Amino acid sequence: MIGKIKLIDENGLRVDGRKPGELRPVKMEVGVLKNADGSAYVEQGNTRVLAAVYGPREIHPKHLTLPDRAILRTRYHMVPYSTDERKSPAPTRREIELSKVIREALESVIFVELYPRTTIDVFIEVIQADAGTRTAGLMAASLALADAGIPMRDLIAAVAVGKVNGTLVLDINQVEDEFGEADMPIAMMPNLGEIVLLQLNGVLTEEEFYEALKLAQKGIVQLYEIEKQALMRKYCLG
Ligand code: UDP
Repeated sequence: MIGKIKLIDENGLRVDGRKPGELRPVKMEVGVLKNADGSAYVEQGNTRVLAAVYGPREIHPKHLTLPDRAILRTRYHMVPYSTDERKSPAPTRREIELSKVIREALESVIFVELYPRTTIDVFIEVIQADAGTRTAGLMAASLALADAGIPMRDLIAAVAVGKVNGTLVLDINQVEDEFGEADMPIAMMPNLGEIVLLQLNGVLTEEEFYEALKLAQKGIVQLYEIEKQALMRKYCLG
């Protein structure tokens, strides 16, 4: 099956008409939920994600308390209607793993040592999935943390690069994820130039890997600007 599906046409365009180095249309909004301390909505093409942050607040159960820093609890979850085939609302192995890698990425960004004996709880709800949900989720979470007023080293901007029909493409959609040769989500603190998450599913040569990294960085710079604009819309212009 793989290799037989045409993901790049004779004009070099992708299944949704994008050029290889083009992002999907992006929308970001901060402060979308009244009951959370911080919240954000991120839309990339047909991928739609909500993030809500509570805290820093008291920990229950108390034995999880750390004397010198806040703990971070993260839940990545896809709602049953977010996928083509109904997903069970119970957490899958994939969601448990993604909650962990997202937590680790966020832990390297938040100044957790400023809030000893507390918890910061981050909920990421994927309401529509068309690939790139972990990267959209990380951006929504970092915007929601900023909205909650939690000090961070930088925002996180993130995107997945893929290889389809031998071509490296930016910000893959579900068809490209499913039928392409490789999928590499990358999350960065763009201002500091540090990578906080990098995963690779599939095979890339060393040369392709560095080219994919460069392509991701190009997308990340654009996404970072859109994130800052979303924060400014709430905090500077309103
Ligand atoms: N997907 C799905 N059902 C699942 C898991 C994934 O339909 O149970 C789809 C969904 O569109 C998702 C995509 O497959 O965004 C790619 O999933 P992957 O595990 O690569 O994570 P993502 O790209 O969303 O971070």
